[in-house]
Amino acid sequence: PGIPTAAVSRLVTYLRILEELERAEVPTTSSGALAERAQVSAFQVRKDLAYFGRFGTRGMGYTVSVLKRELTRVLGLNRSWSVVIVGMGRLGQAIAHYPGASEYQFGYVGLFDVKAELIGTPVDVPAQREGVSGSGLAASAQPRQLNIQHIRDLTAFAQQQAAQGRAIDMGFLAVPPEHAQAAAQSMVEAGVKGILNFAPTLIQPAQDSAGHERGLQEISDEWRDVMVENVDFLVGMKRLAFYMLNPQLRDQDPE
Ligand code: NAD
Repeated sequence: PGIPTAAVSRLVTYLRILEELERAEVPTTSSGALAERAQVSAFQVRKDLAYFGRFGTRGMGYTVSVLKRELTRVLGLNRSWSVVIVGMGRLGQAIAHYPGASEYQFGYVGLFDVKAELIGTPVDVPAQREGVSGSGLAASAQPRQLNIQHIRDLTAFAQQQAAQGRAIDMGFLAVPPEHAQAAAQSMVEAGVKGILNFAPTLIQPAQDSAGHERGLQEISDEWRDVMVENVDFLVGMKRLAFYMLNPQLRDQDPE
C-alpha cells in the first residue's frame, strides 16, 4: 500500500509550519495546533504522520525541532539534489532565478534549451545550501552563474557530472507542450530519473518517433524507474472555479 500524494503534500505544509514555529522560537506543538494552521483536522495530521512512524509522545505533543528534523529526513530534504532545467524560456528563467529551491539542497547544475541565441548565455542561479546541522542548514555558498547549453549536449554533460560523483537527480521540464515529449525523452536518455513537468501535457514513456527507430523495448527499459510529476497551475485555477461555484462540495479533509 502506498501513501496518498495528498498526504505527502500535507507533510510539506507541516514542515513549513514547523519552520515558522521554530523561527518564532516555539519549542513544542500538537497535532491540534498543526491542524489549525494547515486547515485540516487533528485526526488528519496524526494519520499523515503515522504513515512515517511515531514522532510524538501520546498526550505530550511534538518537539518542534525534532519533528522538523524528522519530516526533513522523511521528505529527503536532508540530502542534496542536482537539478537541470530543460527549456530556458520565460518559465525556465523564472524558475532558475527563484531562490526558494535553494532553501533546501536543490541545486541547479545545468540549464538547457535549443534556441541558438540562448546557448552560451549566462544565467544567475541561487547558491545551493550545503550540509545539514542539527537545527538547520549550514551557511550557503556564493550565487553562481551557469551558461545555457544545447539539449543535445545533455547526455554528455550528465556523464561528466556522474564521473565527478554528482549525477543529475532531477530535471525541470519547461518547454512548450508540443516539444515536451521529445525533451523528456532526451532527459531520460541522459539518465535523469525524476521529471517535474510544467508543460500542460502528459508525458508518455516510449511514445515518440525516436522510440520506433531505437526499439520500444530499449526505450521502455530506460523509462522503467523514471518518475514524472506534473505541475499545472491551470488545474488549481479550474479546481478553484469549480469549488467557488459549488462551495457546499468542498471537502475539508481530503485524502
Ligand atoms: P517559452 O516559449 O517562453 O519557453 C520555452 C523554451 O523551451 C524556449 O526557449 C524553447 O527554445 C525551449 N525548447 C523547445 N524545445 C526544446 C527542447 N526539445 N529542449 C530544450 N528546450 C526546448 O515558454 P514558457 O512560457 O516558458 O512556457 C514553458 C512551458 O511551461 C510551456 O509548456 C507552458 O505551457 C508552461 N507554463 C508556462 C507558464 C508561464 O507562466 N510562462 C506557466 C505555467 C506553465
